[in-house]
Amino acid sequence: MILVMTTLSPNRHLVSCAKSASRILSLCIILLGILVLVGWSINYETLKRISLELVAMNPLTAIAFVISGTSVLLLSCESNSIFHRLGWVLASVTMTIGLLRLFEYMIPFGFRVDQILFREKLAGNVMAPNTAFCFLLIGLSLISALYRNDKIQYLSQSLVISVFLISLLALVGYGYRIQTFYKVSLYIPMALNTAIAFSLLSISVLTMRTENGFTKIFVSDTAGGFMARRLLPAIIIIPLILGELRLMGEFAGFYTTEFGVSLFAISTIVIFFILVWWTARIINRTDVKRRQAEEALKKMFDELELRVQERTAELKQAQHQLVQQERLRALGEMAGGIAHDFNNSLSPILGYTELMLTAPDILSDTVQMMNNLKTINTAAKDAAKTVSLLRKFSRPREKNEDLNPVDLNKLVLEAVAFTQPKWKTQARIHGSEINIQTDLEQIPAVGGNESELREVLTNLIFNAIDALPKGGTIQLSTHSLDEHVLLEIIDNGIGMTEDIRRRCLEPFFTTKGEQGTGLGLSMVYGIIQRHNGTINIQSEAGNGTTFSISLPVQKIDQENTAKNTKPPQTRPLHVLFVDDDALARNVIVEYLKRDGHTVEIATNGIEGLNKFCAGEFSLVITDQAMPGMTGDKLALEIKKIAPQQPIILFSGTLDLSNLNKLPEGIDAFVNKPLTLDKLRQTIIKVMPAC
Ligand code: ADP
Ligand code: MG
Repeated sequence: MILVMTTLSPNRHLVSCAKSASRILSLCIILLGILVLVGWSINYETLKRISLELVAMNPLTAIAFVISGTSVLLLSCESNSIFHRLGWVLASVTMTIGLLRLFEYMIPFGFRVDQILFREKLAGNVMAPNTAFCFLLIGLSLISALYRNDKIQYLSQSLVISVFLISLLALVGYGYRIQTFYKVSLYIPMALNTAIAFSLLSISVLTMRTENGFTKIFVSDTAGGFMARRLLPAIIIIPLILGELRLMGEFAGFYTTEFGVSLFAISTIVIFFILVWWTARIINRTDVKRRQAEEALKKMFDELELRVQERTAELKQAQHQLVQQERLRALGEMAGGIAHDFNNSLSPILGYTELMLTAPDILSDTVQMMNNLKTINTAAKDAAKTVSLLRKFSRPREKNEDLNPVDLNKLVLEAVAFTQPKWKTQARIHGSEINIQTDLEQIPAVGGNESELREVLTNLIFNAIDALPKGGTIQLSTHSLDEHVLLEIIDNGIGMTEDIRRRCLEPFFTTKGEQGTGLGLSMVYGIIQRHNGTINIQSEAGNGTTFSISLPVQKIDQENTAKNTKPPQTRPLHVLFVDDDALARNVIVEYLKRDGHTVEIATNGIEGLNKFCAGEFSLVITDQAMPGMTGDKLALEIKKIAPQQPIILFSGTLDLSNLNKLPEGIDAFVNKPLTLDKLRQTIIKVMPAC
């Protein structure tokens, strides 16, 4: 975007030139006044009247010029209040002289101010009425010259311009010998030197202050200012000179009046034509340069914007990577503990299965075998739970994911279980003991994103663990508070100083050196903000820390709640089961058969499709990852043939369980490993008529 200049910007150089011109002119006027007074005192006629046949300048007029010239000098000083006040007083004196003299014209007898000085030498010389009027205007203009108000300045300068025009009229009158131009009625005429002095004085007053009024444009840097400076002097001077030349030629008898007028008109047109063309050419050139500069500026601006966009994209990418890194770092920290938990689960599975394989006589002891199988089942479920926690933790947030009702108590328990390897196992390795206590009230669901809130909890628990190098207690509690749920994570660890507490939410702020990234709490803050919640931290060095998080409650859809609490019921179904993994397939088929369903098996997607076309099935259950045709593709093909066919997809790698909308063709999704309960619940979901 290019900035548009809406105000006239004064050119500093021109402003200072104008000021200097004003001072020089006022000095000339003071000098002129003094010379006239000297002329009166020594009776030197040239000083008084320029030429003998002309009228002399009255001594009071000369004094008024000295006073007004000094007033201009004082008022043009830069913000000096004493000088300004003095200048203002002199301006008032000038105005009073003019006013008094005009007043005397109305009263034909009595005291006359212009007769005081050189009384015996005056011989009837008085101050002309047009001269007195000009002093009145100049005085008024000088009094108002210091007001910054634009309207007052226009008015003040209008008065000076009037004086200039009156003096110009007098000068033209002298030049072209037209007495009525400088002489009012039967009164004494304005002297030639007075007319010259008024012209100079009015220019001096106009150039004294150029910030406001008409003169502003003359010192501006715009094309208008340039044109005004160039044309205005020419407009005044050229017609005067041409007019004088025309008259001189006519008086000398070179041509008739008609010829003279035509010559005047033609020469004025030609000269102004040349002047305007010349000025326009210069303005044009400047304009072209300005446009080029504008284009260059626009180009630069566009490039800059592009760079900003690129940098923003890079920064976003870097931020994304950092967040990802932080998540992975935490995951890495947990890996040891998870491996430990997982190994614990695998040990009974391996042990008992090996035992049963190597010592088949155990198989005959049904009670012993049932006990072994129960242990294996429990261990496998534990392992599955660890994997599911791991998957939940590492799952990145989906774009545009809505805020769903979240059971915060469940998340707290999950987070405690997930972080157990760190707070229990690792703490013990370092010789300390950390206790985690939970105080979970009956609370309504909050509107949120499960995986993000899980991340909040794990980060806060990790920080609490870090704050307990010598062991201690971490307390997690939830309370219902109006339309909010309050979650508190309290530790009795090292705490924070006031300075750390104030800065701890800043990205990259850490007191843990190489061990910390300083991103945990900033992520927590960002997530809580997105959930329209608030976070409050209370801490004291040596006295532990309390993180209080408040999240708004989400109203749960009554209808859905009712549906969810329905007890599961099944009726015998004819199921097409598609899975390439023989072992997993056998277990599921066994589950299904036990529930009274009949099952037909397909070992890959293509076989599944063929079997579906050949038979009639109430339900299709398919694995996702299979060679040839994946589960979702098979679902799409089946839906083309039978759009109402219920289809369940299960997978161990793809996690669609948190998606609001499943991919096309799929009615329900279930995570591996499949358990009987999970399978039953999913079947109920897609077979509402059961
Ligand atoms: P990191 O854990 O990588 O240092 P965080 O953003 O999670 O980064 O935390 C920033 C800082 O806040 C920590 O370095 C620590 O000084 C302080 N902090 C956070 N939680 C606690 C706590 N429970 N007790 C004491 N200090 C804490
Ligand atoms: Mg941290």
